[in-house]
Amino acid sequence: MAINVTKSFLPPIEEYQEIIKGIWDNTWLTNNGPLVRKLEGQLKEYLNVENLLFVGNGTIAIQIALKALNLTGEIITTPFSYCATTTSILWESLQPVFVDIEPKTFNINADLIEAAITEKTSAIMATHVYGRPCDVEKIEAIAQKHNLKVIYDGAHGFGATYKGKSVLSFGDITTCSFHATKVFHSIEGGCVVSNNADLNKKLELYRSFGHKNDDYYMMGINAKNSEFHAAMGLCNLPKVADIINNRRVISEKYDELLNWEKLQRPSNEIEGFEYNYAYYPVILESEVKLLQVTEALKQHEITPRRYFYPSLNQLPYLDFYNPCPISENIAQRALSLPLYYDLALEDVERIASIINENL
Ligand SMILES: *Cc1c(COP(=O)(O)O)cnc(C)c1O
Repeated sequence: MAINVTKSFLPPIEEYQEIIKGIWDNTWLTNNGPLVRKLEGQLKEYLNVENLLFVGNGTIAIQIALKALNLTGEIITTPFSYCATTTSILWESLQPVFVDIEPKTFNINADLIEAAITEKTSAIMATHVYGRPCDVEKIEAIAQKHNLKVIYDGAHGFGATYKGKSVLSFGDITTCSFHATKVFHSIEGGCVVSNNADLNKKLELYRSFGHKNDDYYMMGINAKNSEFHAAMGLCNLPKVADIINNRRVISEKYDELLNWEKLQRPSNEIEGFEYNYAYYPVILESEVKLLQVTEALKQHEITPRRYFYPSLNQLPYLDFYNPCPISENIAQRALSLPLYYDLALEDVERIASIINENL
């Protein structure tokens, strides 16, 4: 059987059917229905956050976050993330300014942020890469000093905690993706977590065309999600602890078997951090080695993925270039290995030995 970098979790079909039955009784398919509100309630409890809205996907979550904070001009951001982080900024006609990453976690290097601030800077938007938290304290202090907003792209952070709090609970707004490939999913989906009720109200209006019934408040968009997606989320949420636990066991097997004299990995040694095992990235010695290992795995129908490549400051549709040597270097050498809830440990052994033979 072919092994992919990820495989979507599916709950027992009967559990899904049981939840969606009600939709046939009330004919409420979308537009803030009872299952959406139920899922939001459970997510708030699970994440221990006050303001959370379920939205269509993790990208529209970033877009309404940028809008709701009235951002203008330049947004300081990370070059090491999925392209949606940068593209959402451009899509809102804002200017991304890339600040290089630090080599331990591959998150934005908070020590380099102040030098990138100009009169046009309105916010910092960083990703908690692979689920590891950015230096949220330092970023908060910089934002306060310079009167900037903070958005975190928390697409990888579901289930991870920092100092006893969800990784999704920092900044003015944190967005998350519940895409089928993420640790927790609702097929397509995502959320916005915000730090106050007024902001939450605004995000709620943006989510639904900017009006409530016949009262028009602002220019919104459609960021809603459906009852069927909420139902999948309701099925999957109680399984998250088991999913994360399986991912931990698989990750520890890789830790044990891979040849660390020839490979590097991001560090989990962040005080107060508990990981969600969202990804299993390794950094090879060179891009040549990365391609060699990828080819060897391909011979065995095993498909790793280059998360994240290219470094976002080198996206072909940018009309400027901010050098980010660390991110560019890591992006050339980073390979995410297969990791999902039911990946067999024998397969992990096989994958590890193919990699070790090709280093
Ligand atoms: C998955 C992902 C997104 C996009 O989320 P979608 O739900 O697919 O729109 C954004 N940022 C990061 C870092 C991601 O990994």
